[in-house]
Amino acid sequence: MTKEKLLAEIRMMGIKDKKVLEAIEKTPREKFIRKTDDSQAYGNYPLPIGYDQTISQPYTVAYMIQELRLKKAHKVLEIGGGSGYNAAVMSNVVGKEGKIISIERIPELVEFARKNIRKEGIENIWVVKGDGSKGYKKQSLYDRIIVTAACPKIPEALKDQLKQGGILLAPVNAGFGQEMIRLKKTNHGFEEESLGQFRFVPLVTED
Ligand code: SAH
Repeated sequence: MTKEKLLAEIRMMGIKDKKVLEAIEKTPREKFIRKTDDSQAYGNYPLPIGYDQTISQPYTVAYMIQELRLKKAHKVLEIGGGSGYNAAVMSNVVGKEGKIISIERIPELVEFARKNIRKEGIENIWVVKGDGSKGYKKQSLYDRIIVTAACPKIPEALKDQLKQGGILLAPVNAGFGQEMIRLKKTNHGFEEESLGQFRFVPLVTED
């Protein structure tokens, strides 16, 4: 599939946010996958990136960023850096005044993501090695938090590190797949919405 066909497909599937479509168009997915999968870079499906992990389906990436209501200049925490692709698409939306901190637990993928990001000349993403279920307090609070691995429940640390008025999006285990949950932090607690079913690789915690 070509990039143009992929964009047409995700538009048809309901992605309307122009900034998101533009960011998908500008981010070369072929630079965030293994060379052997080059011909499949614009297929609308996940691809293996090694270590039993995958780069998410382009539609899922677009959908999550759209539903996160990501805007220019936002400071974002991502859990599950993987290939760095989702972070790269988000970095395009937040622009130079924005910042993405992406946590990844597998050292080889931390290196893979860093290398992919560096080669693209992207300067507003920091990939950090660690257990993302604890968040990354040093840089908190965040305007947006996005979890790109399936979690049994939303980690409390992440809720604590969200700004007032901020939004957190996470796929939470439900039945055979995950339910996409959107939390908004308000001055009277969290508002929770359920957005639909997805499938993700699991969030692995150390304790
Ligand atoms: N966003 C990625 C795809 C994520 S796949 C991309 O665009 O390519 C999910 C990733 O979450 C995997 O790389 C996995 O190693 C990582 N992961 C799982 N549990 C984690 C944890 N507790 N902390 C940080 N990363 C974790």
